Amino acid sequence: MALPPSGLGDTVAESYKMYLGGKWVEAESGKRTDVLNPATNTTIASVPEAGPVEAKNAIAVAAAAVDTPEWRDMDPSRRGSILSKIASIIREQRDALALLETQNNGKTIKEAKGDMNYVARTFDYYAGLADKIEGTTIPVPGARLNYTLREPLGVTVHIAPWNYPLLLACRSVAPALAAGNTVILKPASITPVTALKLGEVAEKAGLPAGVLQVVTGSGSVLGKALASDPRVDAVAFTGSADTGREIMKYAAPNVTPVTLELGGKSPNIVFADADVKAASRGVVTGIFSNAGQMCWAGSRLLVHGSIHETLLSEVSRMASALKVGNGSDDKTEMGPVASRSQMERVMKYVETGKKEGATLVTGGERAAEGELAKGNFVKPTIFDGVALDATIAREEIFGPVLTVFKFKDFDDAMRIANHTDFGLFSGVWTNSLVTAHTAAARIKAGMVSINEYPITFPQTPFGGYKDSGIGYEQGLAAVASYTRVKNVSVNIAPPKKAK
Ligand code: NAP
Ligand code: MG
Repeated sequence: MALPPSGLGDTVAESYKMYLGGKWVEAESGKRTDVLNPATNTTIASVPEAGPVEAKNAIAVAAAAVDTPEWRDMDPSRRGSILSKIASIIREQRDALALLETQNNGKTIKEAKGDMNYVARTFDYYAGLADKIEGTTIPVPGARLNYTLREPLGVTVHIAPWNYPLLLACRSVAPALAAGNTVILKPASITPVTALKLGEVAEKAGLPAGVLQVVTGSGSVLGKALASDPRVDAVAFTGSADTGREIMKYAAPNVTPVTLELGGKSPNIVFADADVKAASRGVVTGIFSNAGQMCWAGSRLLVHGSIHETLLSEVSRMASALKVGNGSDDKTEMGPVASRSQMERVMKYVETGKKEGATLVTGGERAAEGELAKGNFVKPTIFDGVALDATIAREEIFGPVLTVFKFKDFDDAMRIANHTDFGLFSGVWTNSLVTAHTAAARIKAGMVSINEYPITFPQTPFGGYKDSGIGYEQGLAAVASYTRVKNVSVNIAPPKKAK
């Protein structure tokens, strides 16, 4: 049923149902939540507001589906071909899905298309892996055959954030399906639309009913009910460190394993011998893409004193020239922040930065001229001369705010780089092999990128040190997050002949 026009010209807010047990349903309470476009704060959709009742139902369905011959005994290469079909449907629908993502999250249409390409590549990667998840044979004493089986965990719950709504959901969903698990996906409340579309895509691709379910509702009610249920075999969570800690508490009584992809405060380190033009572009992309709402944002620029002025003036020139606007306009280079409350949070950090004595180089205010006033736009912002222990140096802002630090030498750079509770990503800009690889070894972060920022692939492991998380997504490493190892020992000693 279509809702009344939303004020978005001729766009009509769509009323979605959620995907539970292979059916499209409402919440039992009948409650619904409105979904907004952060560029305009108009309603673009509404979704059911599920709670503990739907959590229980979804888990019962997922637990039963794990053990149906249809899924349990499916030829793994057939699982792979379903995932491959999902990838191709996503490619076919790329532009429509990207537009939905832009309208829901605010990111530019170019970024949203990039996200959809990445989703398709992720499904393709795990499609190919589905029949290559192998055990080992182990030499043991005596007449024995000893081998391992790699089995699916069972019911996996995936709680996704709002910054890359479909991409970060699929990053854990695809390997979980490839390994033969069943999946319950709960998208972030403010960005549920593309996750619901994934339900449609999976259905069309021939995934058996109940293997993937998508339920919508609040984290503190529905997310909690899902993550604390003893029938759940794993929780894959992407979001803030504080919520990650809560997830661990919910999982602890049941000894449920968790994969946590949390925040970051990643250093982008520019040495004196770096290509300043290339580094400037990498610094700008690293913090202002996705309006800075990236767990792997290069939110701390560390620059050698000798090139500090040159680099900063180039970065600041590029940042202030970025065209901020509605993501669906293809001239826009930076969209809004994903919600009004996130914008307020970012602006609070900006005020704190000013109060704590950092030097504002550019930005530092909302972009609110004309039509922009309706949306959640923040100007690309740069603070120089930030004290190492300032709030904006330590806490994840999750918005378009860059903090700048000067370093004296290599050791000083490493000291500043590692002076953080996080350890997700890092960038190193240098033309010296020695500097590059020594830095790669010394930085306490799960990922190091040399002479570009940021970069990752479906086939490379993504995970963090310290408060940035536990476990790995992507690549072969993710298989371990969604499988367990069983050891089988077989006595093959020939029967003793009766005397
Ligand atoms: P969040 O609260 O951690 O939200 C992420 C997901 O967890 C959402 O699906 C959310 O549902 C759910 N959730 C929230 N509270 C929960 C709970 N008690 N139990 C179970 N699930 C729960 O993140 P946020 O509040 O949206 O954003 C705050 C900060 O998180 C950001 O400013 C940023 O620092 C960080 N963040 C990091 C990433 C990343 O990729 N590392 C992504 C997004 C946000 P609801 O949407 O219904 O709350
Ligand atoms: Mg358990």
